[in-house]
Amino acid sequence: MSVVQPAIIAIVSLLVAFAAAGVPLPRYEALLKQQSAPEDPSLGLYDDGDKVVRLTVDNFNATVVDQNRGALVEFYNTYCGHCRRFAPTYKTVAEHLLPWSEVLIVAAIDCAAEENNGVCRTYEVMGYPTLRYLGPGFQPGAQHYGQNLMTQDVTEIRELLAGMVAAENMTSSHNNSYWPNFHYLTENDSATSLFEGLSSDRQYVAVVHEPENTTLGVEVALFMTQWPAVEVRRVIDPAVATKFKIDPANLPLSLVDRKGEITAYAPEFANGESYAKKLQEVLGKKSVTPRPVKPQQKLATPATKATGQNEIIEEVHRNKHFVYQADLEQAVRTILHNEVPKVSEISGEKLLALQRFLGVLQRYNPLGANGHQMVTKLKDFVVQFNDQLTGSQFEVELKRLESQLLPVYSSTHFVGCTGSSPRLRGFSCSLWTLFHFMTVQAARNEESQDPLEVLQAMHGYIKNFFGCTECSEHFQAMASRRKIWSVPNKEEAVLWLWAAHNEVNQRLAGDETEDPEFPKKQFPSPDSCSQCYRTPVSKSENLEIEWNKDAVLGFLRNIHNPQFVSRYGVQREELLHPTPDKMRQKRQISSVFTDMDMRMGMLLYAFCIVMMVLAFKLFAFKGYRKKPYGHDLLGKV
Ligand SMILES: Cc1cc2nc3c(=O)[nH]c(=O)nc-3n(C[C@H](O)[C@H](O)[C@H](O)COP(=O)(O)OP(=O)(O)OC[C@H]3O[C@@H](n4cnc5c(N)ncnc54)[C@H](O)[C@@H]3O)c2cc1C
Repeated sequence: MSVVQPAIIAIVSLLVAFAAAGVPLPRYEALLKQQSAPEDPSLGLYDDGDKVVRLTVDNFNATVVDQNRGALVEFYNTYCGHCRRFAPTYKTVAEHLLPWSEVLIVAAIDCAAEENNGVCRTYEVMGYPTLRYLGPGFQPGAQHYGQNLMTQDVTEIRELLAGMVAAENMTSSHNNSYWPNFHYLTENDSATSLFEGLSSDRQYVAVVHEPENTTLGVEVALFMTQWPAVEVRRVIDPAVATKFKIDPANLPLSLVDRKGEITAYAPEFANGESYAKKLQEVLGKKSVTPRPVKPQQKLATPATKATGQNEIIEEVHRNKHFVYQADLEQAVRTILHNEVPKVSEISGEKLLALQRFLGVLQRYNPLGANGHQMVTKLKDFVVQFNDQLTGSQFEVELKRLESQLLPVYSSTHFVGCTGSSPRLRGFSCSLWTLFHFMTVQAARNEESQDPLEVLQAMHGYIKNFFGCTECSEHFQAMASRRKIWSVPNKEEAVLWLWAAHNEVNQRLAGDETEDPEFPKKQFPSPDSCSQCYRTPVSKSENLEIEWNKDAVLGFLRNIHNPQFVSRYGVQREELLHPTPDKMRQKRQISSVFTDMDMRMGMLLYAFCIVMMVLAFKLFAFKGYRKKPYGHDLLGKV
């Protein structure tokens, strides 16, 4: 045995021991430390710079239930592309309606944050994003979870809200001194009677002519709620309007003072904001000022790139086509913890879809042994129900099983699906990855003959549970156009999903939801699989790509082979099945020793034992013979 071998053995053994015990190698330690907590989904789509009030399970009731003002609430999912696209519009709505905030706030809750499951379930949100108006004194109740606003246009949202606010029957119990007087002026009203019963703060009454079937006067009143010196009144009857010097066509707005003097004005545009601007300009000249606007509440930290993410992204860029264990697990976790429990009633087609999905997940489960047990038990639980299961029953059972079989997940973060910002990529990316993985596992499974096994489960899941409503609708349309139900065999199922995903990639290339660090391209790229392209890449740039489908199939089978699924970023590798790599590594350690070394080692071992026995006997014997000296020393003999 050479002199360096013991050192090599010691180092290699140490490394194996580290890995086997799941102890992170020092190089990863810092990175893993930052990954100890699950990804923070509470970051949502809005931050401190926006005027949107961020709701969570902790502040939802205190902010929008039984208040003396109304609320517009957006229920959204961070990972839903359409919600991301709508977010800038919603920020504009919030900014625009900020002057209404004493009467109505603009708020949003992220239903992708697990902690908010209960709220989103209670409010029976069927699609994302959903806009609901909850009026003053609102109490949730059966069949009553606010009024839906079926538009995403800023002007329409404003007009609908104005109509809903004006229709409120405000009682004194709501005690909101800012609430405007929405009653129309009548022929009994006059310039002096307007001030009867008004507080002395009210120095002026603005009279607004409101054309029929509009909410113009309501909007002006709402835009002026921060101006305590003015009360805004609506007039619709032309004869009454004339009493207040209003000419609907040219001078549709007038201001009355306490002396009964009336001056009419012509705003620039026929909308509430422009009328309010005119009034504010006139009042400004009279040295009348508004109340200071209340500062917005602060909540979660703004979304920034988390530390450690750069390192992950670099790894993913280095290995572009890798499939990561962490993403597969995050997909399963989000489906079970967030998507399914959010549905209040799971019955009929939904229940069947869930049972089918869990059956497929059980067969092609990417989790470790505990995860396998958990999914099997969860499936057994769900198949007991014939009629109906509730999302909260499912959630309770899931949590019970997970705590019984703890730990179930080996990782808590996305790796291959990490976006350059927490608002990009994530769950939807991992969902594709999971379904590709499952179609490949099904194709490897000789026991299963059903070509549609995974595609059918995926279709049912996407239709009934996927929290990106627009994606679900597109997918269903694409599935029937691409004849999903006619896929003839399991290999074609793998290719069907690959081609369908590429169609989505093509549609979304350059979209505002695209992560600039991960542009949408046809997959696999020529760098990853040049054989997958029949036409040389340079020629195919402007042409339809001519794929070599056999090569594509081989490539997909390879990257989704569980043996090659990357465990980068996994914190608890000990939960997973040992990879052939690890087995090989162990075998390699034993092959570091030659047969001769082994024999020499055994001899050395035997020699050491003999020496130890001899040494022991020698000392024991000596000790026995020395006993009499002890007596002498003690002077007892
Ligand atoms: C069923 C479904 C439908 C969707 N529909 C829409 C929609 O209509 N509108 C919308 O805005 N968003 C939609 N999305 C979301 C969108 O497709 C992306 O998931 C999201 O934009 C994140 O993109 P990404 O860059 O992370 O890559 P993704 O497209 O999510 O891909 C994830 C990973 O899969 C691999 N991959 C890419 N293409 C293929 C392929 N063809 N075959 C095999 N592997 C591949 C890559 O490694 C990639 O990183 C949908 C998602 C799903 C699951």
